[in-house]
Amino acid sequence: MTPFAVYAIRYAHREASLRGEHFYRGDVRAADPYPIDYFVWAAVSPEATVIVDAGFTPETAKRRGNRDYLQSPMDTLRQLGVEAGAVEHLVITHLHYDHVGHVRDFPAAQVLVQRSEYEFWTGPFAMRGEYGHLHEREDMVYLREQVASGRLRLIDGDFTVVPGVTLHPLGGHTQGLQVVRVTTAAGHVVVASDASHFYENIGSDRPYSIVDHLPSMYRAFDRIREMADAEELIIPGHDPAVLKRFPAAAPGLAGLAVRVA
Ligand SMILES: [Zn+2]
Repeated sequence: MTPFAVYAIRYAHREASLRGEHFYRGDVRAADPYPIDYFVWAAVSPEATVIVDAGFTPETAKRRGNRDYLQSPMDTLRQLGVEAGAVEHLVITHLHYDHVGHVRDFPAAQVLVQRSEYEFWTGPFAMRGEYGHLHEREDMVYLREQVASGRLRLIDGDFTVVPGVTLHPLGGHTQGLQVVRVTTAAGHVVVASDASHFYENIGSDRPYSIVDHLPSMYRAFDRIREMADAEELIIPGHDPAVLKRFPAAAPGLAGLAVRVA
């Protein structure tokens, strides 16, 4: 098996964001600025391409406000030599609006979601209060159609997408949130997605503010550390520091994509 290259693709940014929003039960410096980035990830080898998450659309960015949509992940992937229309594997870590908006732009891909995650967002609590704001109803309508057609595969537990790319449901942030472990030349990378929004969540053992089950969030931190071969191979879901820690993926992609490993 040839090791994978892993890219973090930054498609949007929110400057007006404060520390107090990002930690369970707030933060002593709640009013300090804490900008956030939005990402899609790609694992690429000569044999397979696996895309992790599908961002939100420019329309959703406009409707929700305060979000700068930089460039569509599909356009950035093209600059990396990946045609979205030909991608065969699309992993969705969880069904919050900022991870599932562009599924229809990967029309040939089998979509992989944990069953418990899907059942939550199509179940009785999805429209209640806070949960209603965390997802887009039309995304769920589209996903239901993909389940019916067999394009979306509901999975239960650990799963091998292709040799070298495995999925691991850890929950905590949402019911069926899964992380992705990828074999690279630098060792095993873990795309933590929102199991750790920022380096600071896992680094200081401080869960994010949106919690499904608190003990699972702590357990997720432990499992991610066990699965990654080095601390720097853990990739958080929303940290602007990712762009600073790793080199641009290609000359024209500064600010849009970095190569993690
Ligand atoms: Zn997110």
